[in-house]
Amino acid sequence: MTVRTRFAPSPTGYLHIGGVRTALFNWLFARRHGGQFILRIDDTDAERNIEGALQPILDGLKWLGIDWDEGPGVGGPHAPYYQSQRAANHKAAAAALLASGHAYRDFARPEELDDERKAAQAAGKPFLYSRRFAAFDEETARRFEAEGRQSVVRLKMPREGSLVIDDQVRGRVEFAWEREQDHVIQRADGSCLYHLASVVDDHDLAITHVIRAEEHLSNTPRQAFIALSLGYPLPTYAHLPLVAEPGSRTKLSKRKLAQYLKNADFKQVMDHGQRIADRVGLTTEADTFNPVIVDFYREVGYLPWAIDNYLALLGWSYDDKTEFFSREELIQHFTLERINSSPASFDPKKLWAVQDHYMGALSVDDKLALMLPMLVKAKLVADPPSAEAVATVRKVIEASGDRLKVAGDILAYADFFLMDDPPLDEAAVKQRLAKPGAGDLLRAYAKAIETAEPFEPAALEAALKQVVEGAGVKVGDLVHAVRVAVTGKTVGPGLYDCLAILGREQSLARIARALPRCG
Ligand code: GLU
Repeated sequence: MTVRTRFAPSPTGYLHIGGVRTALFNWLFARRHGGQFILRIDDTDAERNIEGALQPILDGLKWLGIDWDEGPGVGGPHAPYYQSQRAANHKAAAAALLASGHAYRDFARPEELDDERKAAQAAGKPFLYSRRFAAFDEETARRFEAEGRQSVVRLKMPREGSLVIDDQVRGRVEFAWEREQDHVIQRADGSCLYHLASVVDDHDLAITHVIRAEEHLSNTPRQAFIALSLGYPLPTYAHLPLVAEPGSRTKLSKRKLAQYLKNADFKQVMDHGQRIADRVGLTTEADTFNPVIVDFYREVGYLPWAIDNYLALLGWSYDDKTEFFSREELIQHFTLERINSSPASFDPKKLWAVQDHYMGALSVDDKLALMLPMLVKAKLVADPPSAEAVATVRKVIEASGDRLKVAGDILAYADFFLMDDPPLDEAAVKQRLAKPGAGDLLRAYAKAIETAEPFEPAALEAALKQVVEGAGVKVGDLVHAVRVAVTGKTVGPGLYDCLAILGREQSLARIARALPRCG
């Protein structure tokens, strides 16, 4: 049997980090078994613009390297892959369930159902519909219709016994039928409801393994009932643990950003992202600029594999200690047995550490390819970048070593090399330049480097030491002052690298420019 898994997002306009984890596990399982991973769009309830709301999901998955074998954009033998376009199959299934007696037309009015519900509540019992307005034959149906009633189609759920499934994550799960309602599967207007559609589509798309979020576990009995009643074999189920909030067991939600920002790690990641977004003119009011949503990481310049690798460990482990996996290793090692059933807390700090690991492993060329587009977006280099700008950025990357954690960090590290007259950070001026004696020291250093040969870090450092010794001050006093003078701020690559990259003429010009601000 060929393994076929699916990810079935609704077109919501964004790709949630928990959704990616579901997609990733389905993808890994299919790849592990040489099977197929299908992308199906559950768009039956969508009232909005489907294409616009779907695109961020497709883009996010593509960026993460989670490729699908069948679905939007690629097609496939079971097309269409949009649930809304499969309505005829859903209706045929509803008709089949009616014909076989597993469903019935129900003519109850909403208030009549409400009365029953309230009575059950008052008696402290679970509500089970009396089926008073159920029509199992044409004659009864006509009688109800004559009363001006409309009908929906409901499942005739069993009321005794139980369903047992062997969930690949949770083990044996038993559901008592008496807790299940006679769920509606078709509305009065003939349109079918989600659970029927989902089961029919899974079957028609020949899905063998339904791997999905834990919140769908409670849907399983009604879905299994539909499948069994239609004579379908049940797929193998695996319900993944919740992707929970940092340090909690509650589901991670994009709407709770304000609350999450009270967590220092979360806030740090958000603030860092915000600084980068500001530089590239990204509107961070968009509600997708949120560390719960994949777009955030793409905009800020995380590495897609860092996200995948981190998310793979949210609920799954290989051996409780290995943290880093290549794509091939992850595919090779992934098994449903190693998925844990308890909620997996999203930890932005851990994700940061994984990102740091992969960023550190990149070559200068790879970093350059990743970071240049950021500089183009921020309009710090032209599009396409000039050879001169590329050479400068390359030197900045080399000089920055492992200080660049995400692609967007290049903005703060390279901007002052690429601007003719970078602004001076006022706080830095006050702290480092406005001190008495700073001007004399800077002048002395400028004089020393006028003739320093070669104009490279070692000679520039030696010159600085000489000036410092002559003046009887601390190395830091001059280093910080020179840095603020030439870069305008306090962050950046090593000072001597900065000077060497700028070159003699620019370095001297910038020191001269800062002198009037010195004490
Ligand atoms: N469209 C459903 C969701 O987004 C899919 C549920 C399932 O995987 O069965 O949650």
